[in-house]
Amino acid sequence: MHSDDIHSEAYSGAETGEEGTARGSKGRMGVRPGVESPGSTAPSAKRRPPRELTVDEHVAGILSGDRVILGKTITLIESLKAEHNRKALAVMEQLLPHTGSAIRIGITGVPGVGKSSFIEALGSWLTEHGHRIAVLAIDPSSQLSNGSIMGDKTRMEKLSVDPNAFIRPSPSAGSLGGVARKTREAMLVCEAAGFDVVFVETVGVGQSETMVHSMVDFFLLLMLAGAGDSLQGIKRGIMELADAVAINKADGDNIIHAKRARSEYEGALHLMKYPAPDWSPPVLTCSSITRAGIAEIWESISEYRARMTANGWLEKKRREQALAWMHESIRQALQDRFREHPGVAAQLPSLERAVSTGEQPALLAAQRLLETFFDEEISTL
Ligand code: GDP
Repeated sequence: MHSDDIHSEAYSGAETGEEGTARGSKGRMGVRPGVESPGSTAPSAKRRPPRELTVDEHVAGILSGDRVILGKTITLIESLKAEHNRKALAVMEQLLPHTGSAIRIGITGVPGVGKSSFIEALGSWLTEHGHRIAVLAIDPSSQLSNGSIMGDKTRMEKLSVDPNAFIRPSPSAGSLGGVARKTREAMLVCEAAGFDVVFVETVGVGQSETMVHSMVDFFLLLMLAGAGDSLQGIKRGIMELADAVAINKADGDNIIHAKRARSEYEGALHLMKYPAPDWSPPVLTCSSITRAGIAEIWESISEYRARMTANGWLEKKRREQALAWMHESIRQALQDRFREHPGVAAQLPSLERAVSTGEQPALLAAQRLLETFFDEEISTL
């Protein structure tokens, strides 16, 4: 095995921040974290085309905790090429028995609430206490903005140079469903690489919460004192998903407001139904600057994990999540195939127009498209 080849830049078409926080990595260290510009090498500098790792090399690298290979495996997962997808699945299949031991924590809240500062504070506290943490993100806006969550890694300055932390920005290509799938797989790969706490960060607007909620054990909603629900853009539905709410920026003059907000949210949560037995979502306060309340939040997460493991809820939740993911993947794949079908693609725009102008009944159009796709008559829809 040639280590230079192993650490070369395979899958470069899909590379964004592949090396994670490369400074703590084994292997070649000189890679600048962040987005590698494909045009950064002089055209005259001929480089040997990189050799891609084999499935076994990916698996062995991950299991030995090699973070360079971890980065490459996530890049493989994120690749849009079919051959890479097939390889990624083969890697995932071998890694699956080595996953499941981490606690998976979703973090949400509107932009500016302090998500990255919070992850930096809790994450550093955790690595100081012997944990190894991975930070991933689902950011639907990254398709437009080239990654706003953690695109700029300096936002987590301490963690980004912490050898016991691995930070990966949101995949930026594809639909929200596709991005979520890739993040879910990246989460499993991080677990197999020995990270025992995985954070998945998302913005508290829109559908991405539901996606993150469906892949984590514990969903933490960050809020601000005195901003009001509507101002914070947090929908009631998102509060219902929370396993805990933390009022952030509880420092300085804001402490008093945070305490007041705490009892307001306690009242609001009290009125909502919460699905798990033996737990009601606590409302906590914290500050990423003073670190007040950070250890208490970890205590709460640990308590939740202990109780939900003892009563079987966590196992049930993970089983249901895996099943839901299977169905979601089937739906996604069928939909992709459907849209890619040449006959469907040829008819779809005109049928969409005809349906939207009322010239064609929606069901009839659906039937025609499905008959084209399946190449057989469909009697009922
Ligand atoms: P995000 O968009 O949710 O990731 O928010 P950031 O972590 O980028 O924080 C947004 C702003 O709030 C930054 O200017 C931070 O310095 C500030 N901030 C974050 N956490 C705290 C905190 O605990 N206390 C105070 N006073 N400011 C904070």
